[in-house]
Amino acid sequence: MADQLTLEVATPSRFVIGEQVDEVVVPGIEGYFGVLPGHAPLLSTLGIGELTYRIGRDERHATVSGGFCEVRNDKVIVLADSAELPGDIDRARAERARDRAEQRLTGRSSEEVDYARAAAALARALIRLQVAARAQ
Ligand code: ATP
Repeated sequence: MADQLTLEVATPSRFVIGEQVDEVVVPGIEGYFGVLPGHAPLLSTLGIGELTYRIGRDERHATVSGGFCEVRNDKVIVLADSAELPGDIDRARAERARDRAEQRLTGRSSEEVDYARAAAALARALIRLQVAARAQ
């Protein structure tokens, strides 16, 4: 058994993280789960949330939204619909997305509302703001 994990995070358009890490916490569709070296093989659908990875005592964070996570042979592969490191996140854009989604969900929008879509957009915006705040 290796004493570290290889973490790779990619989206359809870019490679976001490639690191040797000690621990990863992944936002699965049914909640967060932790992965340490020696973890049993696993395939999980991703939710919308914060991916946390630890290198020694250094804890780092990224957003992920949708996709899959595979754990096998001390390798954690995350293929996400979108993923951002704190420095990638445009806070003003996320604030606008949050405000739009809140307007739709609170009935202050004149258009017909797809509530599930608006709720997912709100969750993505809030996670982006949470992860961006960690960069400050
Ligand atoms: P928006 O309405 O602002 O486009 P969204 O939640 O609909 O937000 P997504 O469909 O999740 O956006 O993402 C589309 C692409 O834009 C992805 O590549 C994602 O990483 C990027 N992206 C979305 N919001 C931000 C942001 N606030 N800062 C940086 N990149 C972002």
